[in-house]
Amino acid sequence: MSTPKRNIMWFRRDLRIGDNPALLEAIKTSEELVPVFILDPTLINATGSKRLAYLGQSLRLLDESLGNALHVMVGDHVDVLRELMQRYGATSVHISAEYEPYGAARDERVEAAGIPLVRTGSPYAVAPGRVVKPSDATPYKVYTPFYRAWRVHDWRAPAATPKKISAVVPLESDRNFPDWKLPEGVLITAAGEKAALKRWKFFQENGLNNYDEGRNLAGIDGTSKLSAHLKWGEIHPRTLLAELGEDKAHDTFRKEIAWREFYADVLFNNPNTDKEYYAPRFAQMRYDQPDAKFEAWKTGQTGFPFVDAAMRQLVHEGWMHNRTRMVVASFLVKDLHLEWQLGADFFMKHLVDFDVASNAHGWQWTAGSGTDASPYYRVFNPIEQGKRFDAEGDYIRKYVPELAHLSAKEIHEPWLYADGYSKGYAQPIVDHAVERLESLARLKEIKADKPQDPRA
Ligand SMILES: Cc1cc2nc3c(=O)[nH]c(=O)nc-3n(C[C@H](O)[C@H](O)[C@H](O)COP(=O)(O)OP(=O)(O)OC[C@H]3O[C@@H](n4cnc5c(N)ncnc54)[C@H](O)[C@@H]3O)c2cc1C
Repeated sequence: MSTPKRNIMWFRRDLRIGDNPALLEAIKTSEELVPVFILDPTLINATGSKRLAYLGQSLRLLDESLGNALHVMVGDHVDVLRELMQRYGATSVHISAEYEPYGAARDERVEAAGIPLVRTGSPYAVAPGRVVKPSDATPYKVYTPFYRAWRVHDWRAPAATPKKISAVVPLESDRNFPDWKLPEGVLITAAGEKAALKRWKFFQENGLNNYDEGRNLAGIDGTSKLSAHLKWGEIHPRTLLAELGEDKAHDTFRKEIAWREFYADVLFNNPNTDKEYYAPRFAQMRYDQPDAKFEAWKTGQTGFPFVDAAMRQLVHEGWMHNRTRMVVASFLVKDLHLEWQLGADFFMKHLVDFDVASNAHGWQWTAGSGTDASPYYRVFNPIEQGKRFDAEGDYIRKYVPELAHLSAKEIHEPWLYADGYSKGYAQPIVDHAVERLESLARLKEIKADKPQDPRA
């Protein structure tokens, strides 16, 4: 009896069965599939416990969908893939293409070692590098024209879900499912493709039509909370885009998906900007060294209620509301005068949805050094932002129990009220008005340009 034709499906950031063109292609051109996920020590060491716990859960659920056929291997990518190819007589390795610096370099190295990779699709509706200016085929540097061109470029309809997957039965020794535990008291979102589709349906029924307004309010469940699912490819952005209409709220949601695609494109075209300043002059600015104030920021003890609520949300849930991501980032860079990379690294450690492009460029946007830079004179006022986007104080009350006894009016400025500190809340570590001026003075020294297209 001859050996069936086998293909390897190497899963990475596409931990799903539905709308997965690479998986479909691997199935179409083989009789038996060899699905594998390779545990990469470099990535694991850079990943915090919450994201690891999520990944571990996601792998188990993917395995379930594959009829317990997932190989979870430890070792060098080239060695693992070569061994599987030899053992199963597989001739090609199917992947969905990676564009961020680490993943793209890894795949090049694997190919250079003689392993044929077949790329089908990517984690994006439109792959990075595809949307270029018609006039000279260069990449866009500003979001709004990118968005217009991205929409015109268009994307494919979602791919079909395979009806049947015939896969080899893995050796028990190749089922190295990690047992990454969640730290005590931490509550992260449920992982997996089913949870992603369920959340998407819930959001369509309960949040999407009001997304325009709801998305800014930190105290309500007004955003999709799909970021971790998108990060791990448990759902593809195409699946979401296919179900959006043309009204304003849907359009706003589509624009947010486009920010993810824009930042992926920017990082693809400027691969050093995951760590370096997109606008190099910002590297010359005067910054402070991290000290006790940085620790207070990390632990949600700055004495600014909206900032502290957000930082505690990050540490407890591995997720933070977009509004407060901007507020805490501004606080770190413009009130504490620290470099954005310090904050981005802390986010990397704690976010379940950590995405190298969205994170680095979300930080750079707030710092004023990125694309579409926030105006250099724009310093988020952490108190006013709280009053505006958490008017009832529900968000603060949820994460800062020391302030839970205060009313909506009191909670944003505990220093004005007699019992503001009766439950041991921290005193403000800086005077925002003073630090704002200091920040502007430092920015002036490097002559920050006027902004383009501010958004906040
Ligand atoms: C300092 C900073 C750091 C950030 N770090 C990350 C990160 O590591 N990973 C990450 O996915 N997002 C990051 N963001 C973007 C944004 O905050 C999150 O995508 C969003 O809060 C996720 O929640 P959601 O899924 O409910 O978003 P929704 O409002 O429901 O948006 C839907 C999807 O659109 C995308 N999106 C929305 N806003 C943005 C944005 N501003 N930039 C890029 N994509 C966006 C996300 O994929 C999101 O899941 C960061 C923003 C800032 C300001």
